[in-house]
Amino acid sequence: MKFGTKVIHAGVHPDPSTGAIMTPIYQTSTYVQDAPGKHKGFEYARSQNPTRKVLEENVAALENGRYGICFASGLAAMDAVVKTLKTGDEVLAVNDLYGGSYRLLRRVYEQFGIESRFVDMTKADELEAYITNKTKILWVETPTNPMLNVVDIAAIAKIAKARRIKLVVDNTFASPFLQTPLNLGADVVLHSATKYLGGHSDVVMGVLVTKSKALADKFYFIQNASGAVPGPQDCFLVLRGIKTLHLRVQRSCENAKAIANFLIKHPRVSKVYYPGFKDHPSHKVAKKQMRAFGGMVSFDFKSNSFATAKKVLRRTKLFSLAESLGGVESLIGHPASMTHASIPKEERMKVGLTDSLIRLSVGVEDVQDLIADLEQAMSKI
Ligand SMILES: *Cc1c(COP(=O)(O)O)cnc(C)c1O
Repeated sequence: MKFGTKVIHAGVHPDPSTGAIMTPIYQTSTYVQDAPGKHKGFEYARSQNPTRKVLEENVAALENGRYGICFASGLAAMDAVVKTLKTGDEVLAVNDLYGGSYRLLRRVYEQFGIESRFVDMTKADELEAYITNKTKILWVETPTNPMLNVVDIAAIAKIAKARRIKLVVDNTFASPFLQTPLNLGADVVLHSATKYLGGHSDVVMGVLVTKSKALADKFYFIQNASGAVPGPQDCFLVLRGIKTLHLRVQRSCENAKAIANFLIKHPRVSKVYYPGFKDHPSHKVAKKQMRAFGGMVSFDFKSNSFATAKKVLRRTKLFSLAESLGGVESLIGHPASMTHASIPKEERMKVGLTDSLIRLSVGVEDVQDLIADLEQAMSKI
């Protein structure tokens, strides 16, 4: 099956009891057993839920994996991955990581003796020097947030395999429509389904996908034992959102490209971070690894001042000032004070995340309207 068919059909079957074409929301906490221990594969809804199961099979197929495991949020999914480690183990993560992922590693897991270090993984050949015999997970996010650097997944996977370290790729920013890390050698793919998978800004959820039975068993165990499961209605919403994933992401990518081209010509703009530009440091890797260059664009001002950025952030009308990304509607954000506020300023500045940097999540609206909105917001600044 090709991608556009999978989003609609993979794992989805008419409801056996009624023939309903859409997967029903099984809003139940438990299931009646025929005799003690004799059940239909469903015992208690933390352990199994039919709506969730269909979603898990669907996302597993989109990522070319064998097992999908859903969690109450993207961070709950990440939490389940880190819980497979023990005190003394170490995570080596990409340096401009999603703020919440950084916080989880630093503020939650360090106190249990699981250390994390953060390195520039766009230089795959330098990674080897940071690996110790404590390193158990390489944590990659690509494209990175909000600088939109692209990490060469296949190159990192080679190192991970040679050193017998698990490679986890947070594929939230790309979505499986643009890249499938398991095909490039990753062991686990993570999604904040809150973003492109759900796609309509109406649900918070996370998913892990893997080909490995051993890893899937660990994740299922933690899903049930720690209990951070999504509700059936949320599973329904994500399943429904996924049916148009390919259409939405394609349009977002087209719109983002047009907007990046508008911004680069703007007299007040100093930098546009967009991997589709030939002079972007990761352009070659992006071209090799991704089907298109994504729906995210970040940019900075010549003035380098927060005041300039603030003006623009207050003036846009179609771009809503909000955290998150990947929905049908366009969003504008200020990473330094919003998504990345929990990262120390010195750390931020190291990667170019200044106080004037603005990040756009480009939606699927008509692009002429989006450009006109930015144009008016950026006039007389
Ligand atoms: C949003 C996000 C997360 C966290 O997901 P939640 O669903 O908000 O818990 C993790 N990684 C990336 C790249 C994200 O954008």
